[in-house]
Amino acid sequence: MTDVTTAPAGLPEKIRHYIDGQFVDSLDGEEFDVINPVTNEPYIKAASGKKADIDRAVASAKKAFDEGPWPTMLPRERARVLNRIADIVETRGDELAAMESYDSGLPITQAKGQANRAAENFRFFADLIVAQVDDAFKVPGRQANYVNRKPIGVAGLITPWNTPFMLESWKLGPAIATGNSVVLKPAEFTPLSASLWPGIFEEAGLPRGVFNMVNGFGEEGYAGDSLVKHPDVPLISFTGESSTGQTIFANAAPWLKGLSMELGGKSPAVVFADADLDAAINATIFGVFSLNGERCTAGSRILVEESIYDEFVERYAAQAKRVKVGLPSDPSTEVAALVHPEHYDKVMSYVEIGKEEARLVAGGGRPEGFETGNFVEPTVFADVTPDARIFQEEIFGPVVAITPFKSDEEALQLANNTKYGLAAYIWTSDLKRAHNFSQAVESGMVWLNSNNVRDLRTPFGGVKASGLGHEGGYRSIDFYTEQQSVHINLGEVHNPVFGKQ
Ligand code: NAD
Repeated sequence: MTDVTTAPAGLPEKIRHYIDGQFVDSLDGEEFDVINPVTNEPYIKAASGKKADIDRAVASAKKAFDEGPWPTMLPRERARVLNRIADIVETRGDELAAMESYDSGLPITQAKGQANRAAENFRFFADLIVAQVDDAFKVPGRQANYVNRKPIGVAGLITPWNTPFMLESWKLGPAIATGNSVVLKPAEFTPLSASLWPGIFEEAGLPRGVFNMVNGFGEEGYAGDSLVKHPDVPLISFTGESSTGQTIFANAAPWLKGLSMELGGKSPAVVFADADLDAAINATIFGVFSLNGERCTAGSRILVEESIYDEFVERYAAQAKRVKVGLPSDPSTEVAALVHPEHYDKVMSYVEIGKEEARLVAGGGRPEGFETGNFVEPTVFADVTPDARIFQEEIFGPVVAITPFKSDEEALQLANNTKYGLAAYIWTSDLKRAHNFSQAVESGMVWLNSNNVRDLRTPFGGVKASGLGHEGGYRSIDFYTEQQSVHINLGEVHNPVFGKQ
């Protein structure tokens, strides 16, 4: 059953870097194997970038920035290119989704949704830069001040393996919309879909050198680390684990680089007794099992009011058992294969820890019929106490912890009782409680009686160990631009004159 997987059409011969408009190998020729998560067999080689490759890519991006024309083009002209990118991504959506699903193990229907979202990211920032207004301030009769917004230079973009193409678009869109040039370092587990960017950008007419990409690892001396430490890269936008974020923060410190960090999460979904239970169960199932549970904003801790706790756990476990595990390429699949055997081992080790710490009510093993590959049954633990590791630590797979609470105060205390603070989901029909809880919960984003649906204009980011700064909408424009204040004297000079004779 599990060997039923065919490589998608259009697979490149191997995955290379893309520097100054050319596909190139690593200068030292080093490559690494990329594996298919259904078979765990290597299916393609990818170039492994080091400092020398990053140096070339940054030099190309810097030249494109210094010599133009991209940074000084009219926003309308840049927006046309971005809209063409969006059109191409849409047109090639099926091909992209097939590659993403094959490489990452994401269910194909969800991969298709992510490809559409990637197109939207470019369209959205095309609109935003055309509509962009900047502040101006007047001091009547004396002074006018205005803000001169400028692209910053070479942006380093470092991305993770979950929904890789969409998360790359989330950084590429605003970074290039605002006139910067970029070096992208895709995640080493999932470099396949990123190999389509060069063709998409070339066809859309993005000038040579504005987009560069170096594949490979993040560790010291490799591509990610070298990008962070490159003196000609003043900005780093990073999405990944909190511990990697800490390393990057320290490595970027000597240059005081601009940093945007979207990090890990262990987000609570709080279900009060007065909630619409059907809606809450559907949404919290989707919230942790969609995207294979490999989702930063997953509601992976469900806190449930005591009076409905038993009913909730019973219904939730029953529904989790009905979630369809299948091959990534099967359109009816709801949960497919985790990205990599290393990650599979990590998730399964938490499942074993959970069996010691709490009550297993669904899943807990390998699904029947899937003897190989990184398949995990949708797994539900009940009666999880806040000191449990499965309550505190990010598992990043289809595993959820359910915990009862007695009062609003206890619910809040439990919700805030981790080092993370990315998202929170609140289910109640009491509007006042919903608002008060939102104010007090320690999270960058809150969804009230809602699934994780995000309007692209809203700020996105976490607090505590979940992130630093916000992107999304105008916050992305702010991150990728310098805001220079220009002061114009309109009247007499009011400065005191020193050394007057
Ligand atoms: P990771 O931190 O292991 O790797 C992310 C990227 O950083 C990869 O490209 C990797 O090669 C690179 N990297 C690793 N070490 C580096 C270093 N020292 N210097 C520079 N680059 C380095 O994360 P992952 O396992 O790929 O992704 C999963 C994590 O990402 C989870 O914790 C998840 O919550 C988080 N995530 C957060 C968001 C968000 O928006 N908050 C979104 C998606 C994923």
